[in-house]
Amino acid sequence: MPNDPAELFSAARDDADRTIDLRRRLHRHPEIGLQLPQTQATVLDALAELPIEVTTGKSLSSVVGVLRGGRPGPTYLLRADMDALQVFEDSDLPFASEIPGAMHACGHDTHVAMLLGAARLLAERRDLLAGQVVLMFQPGEEGQHGARYMLEEGLLDVVPEAPVSGAFAVHTISNMPSGTINVRPGPMMAAADQWRMTVRGRGGHASMPHSAADPIPVAAEIVLALQSMVTRRVDVFDPAVVTVAHITAGSRDNVIPETAFLEGTIRTLSAERRRDVVEAVQRVATHVAAAHEMTVTWEHIAGYPVTVNDVGVAAQVLDTAARLLGEQQARLMPAPVMGAEDFSYLLERVPGAMAFLGACPPGVEPAGAPANHSNLVVFDEEALPAGVALYAQMALDALR
Ligand SMILES: [Zn+2]
Repeated sequence: MPNDPAELFSAARDDADRTIDLRRRLHRHPEIGLQLPQTQATVLDALAELPIEVTTGKSLSSVVGVLRGGRPGPTYLLRADMDALQVFEDSDLPFASEIPGAMHACGHDTHVAMLLGAARLLAERRDLLAGQVVLMFQPGEEGQHGARYMLEEGLLDVVPEAPVSGAFAVHTISNMPSGTINVRPGPMMAAADQWRMTVRGRGGHASMPHSAADPIPVAAEIVLALQSMVTRRVDVFDPAVVTVAHITAGSRDNVIPETAFLEGTIRTLSAERRRDVVEAVQRVATHVAAAHEMTVTWEHIAGYPVTVNDVGVAAQVLDTAARLLGEQQARLMPAPVMGAEDFSYLLERVPGAMAFLGACPPGVEPAGAPANHSNLVVFDEEALPAGVALYAQMALDALR
């Protein structure tokens, strides 16, 4: 079989019914977190028909497949995440979630179906491959660090004689034009850090604030001081977002409470900025409180690192997408997205890229489409063959 992008894309389109059927089965039965037994069984079932060696995770229900090419060579990894979100689905689709409070609202069902489609195409073309393709099916992308656990369990050394030396992932996005491939070199998605703090004062009667230590105005000062810190101390060309997303204090009108609680997120696009801003949020809060003779206890919960695309691989994705799908479908993104991804852990270890596959449904303006994570989000299944072909072509090109 020739390595011909047009032929590959047409094979992916011919296989669309199978890809869509699998996606719908996954969509009906979403599972959340690190343990996805039913999803794992569906993936194992689909892989069983193919000449692929399979291992499963120990601490999580991951699946790793290895497809060996006709000749020896390096090992290239393709990743699909498999987990759903704690969302009640309101899409009214005929194949909507049958599990109350769980929904494939981030399109991970489409990722699994597309990677299995790519696995079928690659298995048919294994004579073209000089090396191994690793298929990574991961649970726990939505905040549970599934990719990190898979790395700890030896993901990159699953082919001992040829450790993984490149990686690629596709993410479906509901509010980008359907069938487009969107990517950029360098930072693609942000680092996400969570923080919580408690301002500790002294409770008392609301009529006599001088005999208490009121944490509420101090909490308000902290909120404003954090915004000044971001605009005055952070270089706009290496930006940061600090959001105070939750604040609570007090119980009724005539009592000064003992404490005020605040929590929020920090988003950054470089490791240096991330370190700086995490430190600055704590410093500003502590010193604002100290000015009023109060203290702050602070907790930082590190989230995912910055997702950084390799410059060369991002260019290659655009080139491959243009050859497969046409020039107008390959789009260089002007700016990163401030969401976060645990594929970042892989891109810290090996060069690679994540690309976004637009899947805005027909008849909807992309800008107005319900976004990923929405209870109303709908993905255009017509876009799936483009993702299938892109996964497969990236591996074919890497293992020429
Ligand atoms: Zn996602």
